[in-house]
Amino acid sequence: LRGVVALDGPSGTGKSSAARRLAATLGARYLDTGAMYRAVTLAVLRAGVDLADTGVVADVASAALVVQGTDPDRSTTHLDGADVGAEIRGPEVTLAVSPVSAVPAVRELLVAEQRRIIAQALDEAGGIVVEGRDIGTAVVPDAPLKVYLTADAEARAQRRAKQDSASGRESTLDATLADVQRRDAYDSSRAVSPLRAAEDAVVLDTTSLDLPGTLAALLDLVDA
Ligand code: C5P
Repeated sequence: LRGVVALDGPSGTGKSSAARRLAATLGARYLDTGAMYRAVTLAVLRAGVDLADTGVVADVASAALVVQGTDPDRSTTHLDGADVGAEIRGPEVTLAVSPVSAVPAVRELLVAEQRRIIAQALDEAGGIVVEGRDIGTAVVPDAPLKVYLTADAEARAQRRAKQDSASGRESTLDATLADVQRRDAYDSSRAVSPLRAAEDAVVLDTTSLDLPGTLAALLDLVDA
């Protein structure tokens, strides 16, 4: 792969697994931008500050050292030198990540860092698959291929519940569906960088696609 593939959409569309597999198949790098927002959120939670105090949240975010790896076979996230890959998937971070991501100064900081990582990966490997919510609209608006993944809320909740149980977390389908819908509503409604497809994005509905099906559809788009 030469260049950037921007992969956006809400959670539970199979986006992360498909993005990783796509990058590995193409011999490209992989960037999980959601993990970076999660790591900053963990720093904010650890600091014990009021999430509504956006000035303080921004201060904690700019003091936090987040290092996001780009190896598709082993995506790693470090916060202040420690591996936080497991902790950032926990319920506390998942609950707080949307409001932290809505703080404009947090986005500015992370978008700049994402662009730096992408430029370095393009230098070193020639191609990168970047996964998030605003990659095609804000981070890399000139990406040659933008894909926006969607799926019914129920299908997305089912995928998330499966992921949770695979990683040893207890969750009911109802609670997961409620969380998926809550985060969608919040992410879609926020003033700064709302969740939406770029005008030139290809929309791919994964409701009835499994991972191989999604990967095949993405590979077709890369080849097209
Ligand atoms: O993809 P993931 O579920 O890990 O993302 C967690 C949260 O981070 C999202 O619900 C969203 O609020 C935020 N996010 C974002 N912009 C991105 C990636 C994630 O605001 N590019």
